[in-house]
Amino acid sequence: MRLHIGIDDTDSPQGGCTTHIAVRIIEELLGLGCEFTDYPNLLRLNPNVPWKTRGNGAVCLRIKVDQELEGEVRSTVIGEVERYAEFDCENTNPGIVLHIGLVPEAFIQFSNRVVGSVVTLEEALTLVDGHGASAVGYKNMRGIIGALAAVGGLQRGDHTYELLTYREPENWGKPRLLDEATVRAMDCELGDQTFNNVDPESGRVLIAPHGPDPVLYGVRGETPEAVHRAGTIVETGEPVERWAIFRSNQGTDAHLRRVEKLSDLRTFHPAVVAGKIVETPRTIQGGHVIFGLADNSCEIDCAAYEPTGIFREVVRRLIVGDRLEAYGGVRTEEEPRRTLNLEKLEILELAREILLKNPGCPECGGSMESMGSGKGFRCRSCGHRDGTLVKEESVMERELEAGLYVPPPKAQRHLTKPTKRYGREKKRRTPGAMHEPWHWP
Ligand code: ATP
Repeated sequence: MRLHIGIDDTDSPQGGCTTHIAVRIIEELLGLGCEFTDYPNLLRLNPNVPWKTRGNGAVCLRIKVDQELEGEVRSTVIGEVERYAEFDCENTNPGIVLHIGLVPEAFIQFSNRVVGSVVTLEEALTLVDGHGASAVGYKNMRGIIGALAAVGGLQRGDHTYELLTYREPENWGKPRLLDEATVRAMDCELGDQTFNNVDPESGRVLIAPHGPDPVLYGVRGETPEAVHRAGTIVETGEPVERWAIFRSNQGTDAHLRRVEKLSDLRTFHPAVVAGKIVETPRTIQGGHVIFGLADNSCEIDCAAYEPTGIFREVVRRLIVGDRLEAYGGVRTEEEPRRTLNLEKLEILELAREILLKNPGCPECGGSMESMGSGKGFRCRSCGHRDGTLVKEESVMERELEAGLYVPPPKAQRHLTKPTKRYGREKKRRTPGAMHEPWHWP
């Protein structure tokens, strides 16, 4: 029989990682004789929800197993979560969802909503009950939401892969020993097949996190082969405890939904929305850049935060009248004027920037000065006066072109589609055997 195992909300800011528990479970299940029908799925959920610890990720393992082993599989999964989840953290509320057979369409739709909007635990529990799945929840049980979303997140369309490597427990919390030269070499060889290895603006290596979690580094890419190859090039000054290749919705923009008008924006919901600039961008304390965007329905603020680096240069060059499509999320309940945190933007149409200047003297070509509003101009050189002259318009060249602008990789969210992935979106999952090896040990 086929079994789908969703797991979420096991970690805390002090440590742990749901993917790490998942890899431990993989090893146990393989030991029981289970066969994996897909890479472990790493599903990134709505990045704007306030409950997330870090990247709002959930995991699903999809296996084929003899019916008589079902009980043992269940107790193994539950046992590993109970052993390794960070129960002491107030904000950690683990959830497990197990489902036998085909994934119901209702789970797929629920999963899409968890990635792109906000749902309730009641909705998740009703679906679990209504489709014969089973759920195990701890504390406030919120993790069941992400666990069910992971089960429904079949990722039948665009997807990417990530090789995740983990550290020996004695190294958790210590600085990560990564040979950066080998990361750059990997990026040189596989730059076309992988993404977000190195930040081009700062030169910073991006594949390693900085917190106390057990992840040593992760390489994201288009194929399992590419990310596996990357792992053979990157060298570390500390041992790799274990690794696995995940299939993921990272780098696909899966969270963004187009909304018709600015007044349709909702708190915590990621969105793409069109509007016209009505207030010139201004830089506020901390280096964040804010501008006013409006359509027929209302006016909002758009914010490009300091970490978005050179992206702010683009934003600073926008002027009143530019038409654009803003991508991002509303994180707080500010009323009446909302702020959309920009994840990227597409300039649809640039306004004409017009500079008004005094006319040249028709007699001597010298510069003229105004004699007062509507009273014409007088030449500063020859004194010639002309009451009929008006200011001349000259169209300035804009230092900006229409098109898509994405912040540098260091400021991108897990789900943000990087520029280099445009045009490379997968329509479906490639059928066939899984790349070997896809995990270790
Ligand atoms: P990870 O560290 O695994 O990458 P995370 O730690 O940032 O992810 P979690 O600790 O899993 O995030 O916390 C997110 C919590 O919010 C989970 O309990 C999850 O079920 C819940 N959640 C996620 N997305 C939504 C959503 N769209 N609506 C409601 N609840 C959500």
